[in-house]
Order: sequence, then C-alpha cells, then structure tokens
Amino acid sequence: INTVVESLTKAPRNINLSDDSGKAKTITEVFGSNVFSLKEMSRTLPKPIFKSFMKQLRGNQTLDKVTADAIAHAVKVWAIERGASHFTHWFQPMTDSTAEKHDSFLTLKSTFFNGFEEVTALETFSGSQLLQSEPDASSFPSGGMRTTFEARGYTVWDTKSPMFIQDGPHGTAILYVPSVFISYNGEALDEKSVLLRSSEVLNKTVLEFLSMIEEVDEDHPRTKNVFTTLGTEQEYFLIDRGLYTLRPDLKITGRTLLGGLPPRHQQLEDHYFGKIPTRVLAAISECEHELAKLGVPIKTRHNEVAPAQFEVAPIFEEAMQAVDHNLLTMDVLHRVAHRHKLKVLFHEKPFRGVNGSGKHCNWSMSTDQGDNLLDPSAAPENNLRFLFFLVAILKAVLDHGDLLRAGIASASNDHRLGAHEAPPGIISVFLGSQLNEVLNAIEENRPVDYDATGTQMQNVRVKGTVLDLKVATLPSIARDLTDRNRTSPFAFTGNKFEFRAVGSKQSTSFPVTLLNSAVASSLTEMKEALRKQMGDKKVASREDQLAVIREYIKKTKPIRFEGDNYSDEWVAEAAKRGLPNIVKSPDAFQCLLKDKNADMLRQTGVFSDAELTSRYHILMEKYAKDVMIEAQTLLTMVIQHVLPAAYTYRGELADTASKIVTIGLDATAESRVIKELSPVVANLQDRVQELEKLANHWTEIEDVSELAFYASEKVLPAMEAVRELADYLERNISDKLWSFPKYTELFLNI
Ligand code: ADP
Ligand code: MG
Repeated sequence: INTVVESLTKAPRNINLSDDSGKAKTITEVFGSNVFSLKEMSRTLPKPIFKSFMKQLRGNQTLDKVTADAIAHAVKVWAIERGASHFTHWFQPMTDSTAEKHDSFLTLKSTFFNGFEEVTALETFSGSQLLQSEPDASSFPSGGMRTTFEARGYTVWDTKSPMFIQDGPHGTAILYVPSVFISYNGEALDEKSVLLRSSEVLNKTVLEFLSMIEEVDEDHPRTKNVFTTLGTEQEYFLIDRGLYTLRPDLKITGRTLLGGLPPRHQQLEDHYFGKIPTRVLAAISECEHELAKLGVPIKTRHNEVAPAQFEVAPIFEEAMQAVDHNLLTMDVLHRVAHRHKLKVLFHEKPFRGVNGSGKHCNWSMSTDQGDNLLDPSAAPENNLRFLFFLVAILKAVLDHGDLLRAGIASASNDHRLGAHEAPPGIISVFLGSQLNEVLNAIEENRPVDYDATGTQMQNVRVKGTVLDLKVATLPSIARDLTDRNRTSPFAFTGNKFEFRAVGSKQSTSFPVTLLNSAVASSLTEMKEALRKQMGDKKVASREDQLAVIREYIKKTKPIRFEGDNYSDEWVAEAAKRGLPNIVKSPDAFQCLLKDKNADMLRQTGVFSDAELTSRYHILMEKYAKDVMIEAQTLLTMVIQHVLPAAYTYRGELADTASKIVTIGLDATAESRVIKELSPVVANLQDRVQELEKLANHWTEIEDVSELAFYASEKVLPAMEAVRELADYLERNISDKLWSFPKYTELFLNI
C-alpha cells in the first residue's frame, strides 16, 4: 500500500491553464468557448435561418428541413474548426448518468477516373443526423415498456440546450448534441423528457394564475414565460486513485463495504472550510477551467465536513440547463481527477461513520422579466403573490411528500438519509421564524409580531395598505442567513427552497420533475379556489387572495416544522401529524403508484400510467441489483482476503507460540490472541455461509418488487452481520496481513 501511495502521489499531471505568455487565462476569456451558443448561431447562420430557429425555440414553429440542414452545416464547420472528428447525441437514460454513441463525420464519395473508381473521404453532417438518431433502446432500462410498446428508441435534439464540444483523444474533439430519448410512441425513456413536460405544465399554470391577479398596463406587461431555476450544490469525496484500485468494494459499488473509523476523522471539525489540499486544488481548478469552456458557471469550492470531502456549487440557472450542467460537472470532475491520480466518489455514503454526500437542490421560479417569484423582498406590492406561491409549495409537499421521498430514494441514499448528517425519511418544510410568524399572523388574523420573528426592527418597512389587511409587509430580513435550519429536508432559504435530501450520485432531474409537477398541481387547486372566491371579477382583489391564502395556511400546517429534524421527538411528532416516515427505498418506490400520486402525475400530463409503472419497475430492479452486487462483492472480499488473513495470522501466532515453548518459555500471550480470534473467525464463516445462501436464493425470485424487499429486509442485515465481524478482524489482526487500504490511508493521502 505504501508503495502505491508513493508512486502515485508524486508529480500529478497539470494541464496548462495559461496562455503563451504564462499568464493564467481569465474566466471571461474561456467561458462558453466550447458552446455553440445562440450568439455563435447568430454569427454563423444566415439571418432567415436563425430567425426560423428562434421561432421554433419559442414554440411557434416546428423545425423544417432547410433550417435543420443549415444549422447542421454551420455547427459542423464550427466544430471541425475546433478539432471535432465525431458527433454524438447526448442523452440521459434512467441510469443516473449520461449516454453517448459517437459517429464520425466521415462519408465516402466515389469518383471515376476513366472508368476507375476511387473513393475519397468527406466530412458531412445532415439536418436529419442532427435532429434524430436511433440508438439500440433495448440495452437501456425501460421497465417493461418495450414489451408493451415498441422496441425502438429515438434520441431527438433538445433545441433548448445548446450543443457543445468536449475534448477527445490526441487533440481531437467531439460534438455533443443534447437530446431527449423517447420510444416510437413518444413515451419517455429518459430523465429529460419528463423534466421538460413538468416545466411546461408549471409554466402554464403559473401564467394562468398570474393572469388572475395581475393588473396589466404599459408599465407592467403581462408575464409571458415562467421557468424553474436550479442551483445544485454537489458534494463528493476525492481519494488517491492508487489506493482506490486496491478496494474492490469502492471500485465495484462506490462505497466501502468493510472498514472502521480511524482514530482521527471528523471529530476535530478541522476539515470543513479548511485549506484545500494542493493536489485537490490543482484538480478542482482544472475542472473549473474545463467547465467554464462548457459554459458551466461554477462559483464555489470548499472542503466539506468529512475528511477528504468537498463541495462544488454553480450559479443557479434555468433548471434544464442546471441538470445538464450538473451531469457535466460530475463527468468532468471524474475525468480531471483521473489525470491527477485521484478518484472522485459520488456515492452518498462511501465511508461508515463520517458524513455522507448530498446534492442540495436550490429551487425557485423566475419570470421572463427576471423576477424571482419566491423573493419576498423584491417588491412589497407582490407580497400576496409571494405568499400564494409559498403556500402552494407547502400544499405540494403536504400532498406529495411521499412522492418527493420516492424521487430521492436509492440503495445508496438510504445509507445517508436518517444518519446524522441528513434529514430522515420524513419530508417537512422549514420556513424560518420570520416567515413562520407571518403565516401564523395571517392565519390568526392579527398583525405580525416582530418580536416573535426574532429579528431587528430597523430593517422592517411597513406599508399602510398591507397592515389594513392585518398583514405586515414581508420584511427584507426574511433573507437573513442566520436563521437557518440545516436539519430540514426542505427549507426556505430567503428567496428559494433548498431540497436537501437529494442524493449526491443521482441526477436531479427526477426530484425536480416531481417537485414541479406537485407544485403545478397544488397551484391549480388553489387557482380554482381563488376563481370561486373572486366570482366574476376579472382580477382577484387582495381580500380574495388573502382569503385563499389563509385557508391554505390552515390546511398546510402539519407540513411545517421548525425544530430539529434529526431528533427522536420529531419522529414521534411527525407520526402524530400523520406524516409518513419512509426509511427504506422499496417502501418509497411504492409511493409512486399510490393513487393520489399517480393521478396527479397523469393529470398534469407529466407521466402516463405506463411510464410511471415502468419507472417503478426500473427503480425497484436497480435497487435490488445494487444490493445484490454489494453482497457478492462483500462475499468475495471476505472469502478471498479477510478470512485468509485471519487464518494466516492465527497460523503465524501458533508457529511463534510453539517456537517459544520449544525454548522453554511461556506462550500465553500468543495463545490468548488465538483463543480470542477463533470464535470470531468461526462466527464469520457462519455469517458468510448465510449470506451466500441468501445470495443463491436470489435467482429464484422473479418479481422485482419482491426482490427489492428481499434485498432490503434479508440481504442488507446479513451483510451487516458479516461486516461487523470483519471489522473486528480489521482492528485485531496484523496490519501487514490486511489487503485493503484502511480509512486512515484513504483519508490522509490526498
Ligand atoms: P448555501 O446554501 O451553501 O449557503 P447559497 O445559499 O449561497 O449557498 O447558494 C446555494 C445555491 O443556491 C447556489 O448554487 C446558488 O446559485 C443557488 N441559488 C441562489 N438563488 C437561487 C434561485 N433563485 N433559484 C435557484 N437557485 C438559487
Ligand atoms: Mg445550501
């Protein structure tokens, strides 16, 4: 192990981030340089073509062949200038990662010279190649949808996401065409098409609602477009790649299946926001540079709580872009880390006993005029609008918290949720004392008590009209960052919600899709309530709006929780309130098919029943397979390494003991160790046999949900029993006989 560390930590390979003069390039010089952006399109395309594309983008026209051909030609020239040899549709099947299949621009052309044919090479890229491609869908998860529908799958260019190039080998490059992946009948086979649908339905609903409350005049044009904004804080671990290669569990499953805490881990709390290790900083800077070229606006980097844990966060963007960019961030981090002889771990809980990784999804809604609909301090006259949205979100989480829980469930995230660094399986909403008091005041029809908000009065502006309704203007101090509850799975943080239970490894697409849909649905319900309230008025009055807001504040009370979400009291309290506490993934997945959730997803048009059932199957199956692979990996490690190490150690001790006895001395010490170890070894052999039996029975279960429950209820506890004994051996036998790098080595060699 030491040899590996030495050889690998020496001389990490740095790429040159500077120009010819040796000065580092500024972010503005490189930002977006590898993106075929609208600006680039307007520069390279004939005017009528660009206009026609913009019309398509606004949803007013389909893309015709002439336009597609012209764009394909322009992007081909642009990409080839930058070294591109291949193009690929880039899509997001339900595997948490992206998929690509490269095709070269190569075409052959025959020329005849006096009857002799000669073939010459050309580089071509047609409009139809740009628009559509047909990868072999049967190799991607479809949850049985293919047997019911059509075997073929198509990737179709998602014109809303710009094309970009990434470096290939030997100075070449690859042109990426962001795409959706659908079946012949238009059923979603990917993460992205449902996200697109959910954004559209949310946009439509919010616009309808705004048209009921907004007086439109010259100064206040009608809002034409609303979109969700997303900022994803990505947590991850970085460890030495050489040591990583010596851990089959990390390589195969992404987490350590064995291993105990070293004497020093995170208890000194010295890693968080500490100095970033040099090799790590080199890798992260290079990664940021690569991402800047792709137009990914990385803003923040820092150490996280656990040893060897870090976080990277971008400036928020339109959700679709943000999802793409998060996937690119993970991909680039992975590749750049490799160059620096580091390995990035995105698993939610790679190491037992220290914090795991999440991916906080900061979520809000914005208008085309740049108004953040969840910013209470933007304009006091919009307070009611803000409150209406806020309460709609509370209602969405109250009605579909279990669905949101399903959206973040996985075999890996189960190890993190409910441990000490992440919220448990109960989804509730934290608002902060100011906002909480404002809602209470409205509910009780009284003025806001600013003492109860626990804030400084200086910042508060109070406007007459609002007080008449016994609602104080929402103070700008609602953005005060001191008022935070880090334990809440879903927290209001000043001008956005932060969904914290999302796993570090997963694509944010599914949770955001579910959130968008649930909010669109609750907003529709509240819109109807408002319609009733306002009668035949064209625009709802403030009283009308307030009446509906008050009604829904009352309804949504159980979902609000300001206290410590990690405490046992909360578990009891939540049960009293009737909030589900879903600890295990298979239980969470079952919530997908609950009538209230399936109805909502069907009514909003985001998932058909077939699509939802297929997703349920995919998730259950993936869960079961993940656990199964872990069980097999653990068995291999214990049978091939841990037990033999124990046998050898006992053998060595026995040899020593008998030698000691032959020279007439006392070997009690050695005998004692053997005596202590022997029952542990025997016990471990038994546990291994039990796990093997369970693993063998596996193939006899056909139903995927049954399999997932079997994995969770039978296999995981059996793995736990094996681990406990193996970890005892790790602590108690000679280090030189231990095959795997231990936590200390993994944490400290970066
Ligand atoms: P932290 O939660 O660690 O304190 P910040 O609150 O500064 O960090 O921001 C976290 C993330 O939230 C960033 O990626 C930021 O761009 C994003 N964010 C800020 N405003 C919005 C918004 N209106 N919509 C979506 N994300 C946002
Ligand atoms: Mg945060």
